[in-house]
Parts: sequence; C-alpha cells; structure tokens
Amino acid sequence: MGKVYLVGAGPGDPELLTLKAARIVASADVVLHDALVPPQILALVSPKARVIDVGKRCGQKLLTQDEINAYLVHAAAHSEVVVRLKSGDPLIFGRAGEEIEALRNAGVEFAIVPGITSAVAAAAAARISLTDRRFASQVLFTTAHRKSGAIDLAWARTISEDTTVAIYMPGAAYAELANALVENGLDPQTPCVVVSRAAQESQRIFRTDIAGLGSLTGAGAPALLIVGRVVQSDAQSITAGDWKQISDIVVHGVQQIA
Ligand code: SAH
Repeated sequence: MGKVYLVGAGPGDPELLTLKAARIVASADVVLHDALVPPQILALVSPKARVIDVGKRCGQKLLTQDEINAYLVHAAAHSEVVVRLKSGDPLIFGRAGEEIEALRNAGVEFAIVPGITSAVAAAAAARISLTDRRFASQVLFTTAHRKSGAIDLAWARTISEDTTVAIYMPGAAYAELANALVENGLDPQTPCVVVSRAAQESQRIFRTDIAGLGSLTGAGAPALLIVGRVVQSDAQSITAGDWKQISDIVVHGVQQIA
C-alpha cells in the first residue's frame, strides 16, 4: 500500500514550489494534476511516472470528483508514491476535503504539502500587504463562483471596511461582478486589483476601483481579484475606470517593472 500526497504546486513559477513539493513530485510513481498546473512544474515529474491530467479543459471535466477520489485510492493500492498535484495550495478552493474523506474512508495513508495560494502570489505581484494594519485587520478568501448562473456574494453583506477580500474564480464578466459587489453593499470607490496569471510569464496586473472594474476586459484566466483599502497603499494615483497596468513579471527571476 502506497501513500498519497496532496501537493500544492503554487501559482506557476517553479521557484515558488516548496523544496518538499519538488522532492515528492520528482519521486512520484503516479501524478494526478489539475489543468492549472503549468508544464514547467510538470517537467519535474520523473519520466517513469504515470501522469494524468484530471483538470477541466474548455469547461469539460475530464474526470468527475468521484472518479478522481476512486482513482487516488486505486493508485495507492498499486504504487508507492501517488501525488495529487493542485495549483496554489491544495486546501484553498481545491476540493481537497472530498479527497481527504475518500482516502480516510479507504484507510489510505496520506499527507498534505502546502503551496503558495494564488491570493498570496497575487498580493506579492501587486506589492500589496494584505493585512497592512493602517487599512485592514482581516483577509477573506472567497469566490464569485456562480451557483446556478447567478453570482453569489452573500459574504459581501457581512464584511467591514477593514477587510481585504481575495476573490478566487472571478470569471470574465467583471461588469456583472462589479454591480453585484455594489448591490451587496461595497463602496464603488473601494480600490481593487486584478492579477492575471500571477507568477507566470504572462502575468498582468490591473488596478482600479469597483466602479471602474466593469470596464475590464481581456484579463486572461486564471485571475484573482483583490478588493480593499490595502490596494491603494502602493500610492498609485488612478481615476475610476482608468486601468493601470503596472508591471510584467517574467518568471525565473527577471523582473520588468513598467
Ligand atoms: N488551490 C488554488 C485555487 C484553485 S481555484 C490556490 O490555492 O490558488 C482556481 C482559481 O485560483 C482560479 O480561478 C483563479 O482565481 C485562482 N488562480 C490559480 N492560479 C492562479 C494564478 N497563477 N494567478 C491568478 N489566479 C490564480
């Protein structure tokens, strides 16, 4: 009986992988990875390993969550080191809960290797302190994921002005999202930043406020939206609706600041 590792691949730059993750990925007999895990990280997998892309492609699921759970249990019965490789951190919007339950129920030994979640990578890219004590006292990791078509922002009604909100899966409809944020009580003047492909070669950073967010188009996925007073702390002056693209970062250490 082998062991399953739920491993965080981080946001994309292989240098942002933990040493432990890199070691375990290199020693894996089987790797099940999400679509968001980039080729540079998959390159660390041994050529002898069996590599399975279980992610979604063009909205089509390659494997259901139940199938992934069952495959993990099956793989552990036949291989020594089984890696479930997820983008960012496996425990943040990564469906790890279901996998942990399935492994526990099947009596499979497992361990979790954390990774840098994209909210943290996005904050670093945009040079924002998520908990800058002058502007914020808490951080909310949440999502604008649509339940049955409509954006569900129930959380927005309960937060105070000193909350920094990191929104995963913001989708491409920023106008709809901006309207929903305002309808749910956020001030349209609240600063925000969209970081597209954080820590990847094609990283893009766009700053505005909620009022201006609606005019954003073409921020490539995956993207993360940070909303809150901390976003203005970099003191970039910008008017509503006026996008400012502040930097392009090339991975492997070369940094161009526009
Ligand atoms: N477990 C992941 C989140 C998976 S949900 C983590 O901890 O980061 C998928 C969402 O994560 C995407 O829709 C996007 O909002 C965000 N995401 C993942 N990688 C990203 C990246 N490199 N840059 C920006 N956002 C990213």
